Amino acid sequence: MPLLDVQNLTAYYTIKRGSVKAVENVSFSLEEGEAMGLAGESGCGKTTVALSLLGILPVNGKIVRGKILLKDTDITKLSEKELREKIRWNAVSLIFQGAMNAMNPMYSVEDQIVEAIKTHDSSITKKKAKERIAKLFEMVGLEPERARNYPHEYSGGMRQRAMIAMALACNPSILIADEPGTALDVIVQAQVLKLMTELRKRLNLAMIMISHDLSIISETCDKLAIMYAGKLVELGDVLTMFKKPVHPYTQGLIAAFPGIYTPKQEMKALPGSPPNLLNPPKGCRFNPRCPYVMDICKKKTPELKEVSKGHYVACYLAKK
Ligand code: SF4
Repeated sequence: MPLLDVQNLTAYYTIKRGSVKAVENVSFSLEEGEAMGLAGESGCGKTTVALSLLGILPVNGKIVRGKILLKDTDITKLSEKELREKIRWNAVSLIFQGAMNAMNPMYSVEDQIVEAIKTHDSSITKKKAKERIAKLFEMVGLEPERARNYPHEYSGGMRQRAMIAMALACNPSILIADEPGTALDVIVQAQVLKLMTELRKRLNLAMIMISHDLSIISETCDKLAIMYAGKLVELGDVLTMFKKPVHPYTQGLIAAFPGIYTPKQEMKALPGSPPNLLNPPKGCRFNPRCPYVMDICKKKTPELKEVSKGHYVACYLAKK
């Protein structure tokens, strides 16, 4: 049994003009210690998947279908109290996008982490929580005394390390990182990603790395899931996906991405833009931008099918 098994996850947002179909029939699984990258253009549903896994969709968001099995517990069926006590931070933890915005400037970093620990484990004393924070800070390469500082006294890299410490405070088995490299310069970004990979291996953490930057995913993940307009369109191991992308959208994303070792070539941008999810196109949602579009693509949604072992594609052109 996988550690995490997401089956046909469908989540919508209700707005005045109707229902935004942000995530539709997304399925994937994750083993202990495995890292999966979740990529796609902005607004394709990556963050909605992450928020669904923690049960923290905004008030106008709702999981309308599907299961999220954590071992044998379907977390979509849990109450708010059960989610807070058993799932968030204790089983699944999230490193938010933009570490500065995720921290309260009015409190020391230590006080914020103590609060997070006590919210999810009410039996722990403040003294024990502070001892735990000191150990976590050492683990993420920060001096334990720096925990007493305020967020503005940290550099961007230190804040991101503190966020990682906070996310690990209750020993989760799954860590979700939403654009962890955002707003960091490339050197600090590389250090943070290296730290995350080391911690993943040391703690046998499963990880979901959300990013639109394929280079980050290729460095840190075992497999890659590509989302387009709320749908999962391709899923497979990182090497196969980079060497032999099958879905035209994945091919477009990879072609738009400069390779350091490949010959110099003109980068090709994908024409058009993602559809409005209030009223997504019928059939394959990529059909208005696809260079290979056929009649059937405009009428019927292609299912995600296995084309080779562990490699799944949702496209009528994909063959075994
Ligand atoms: Fe293109 Fe059709 Fe494949 Fe969609 S199903 S990606 S429109 S060929």
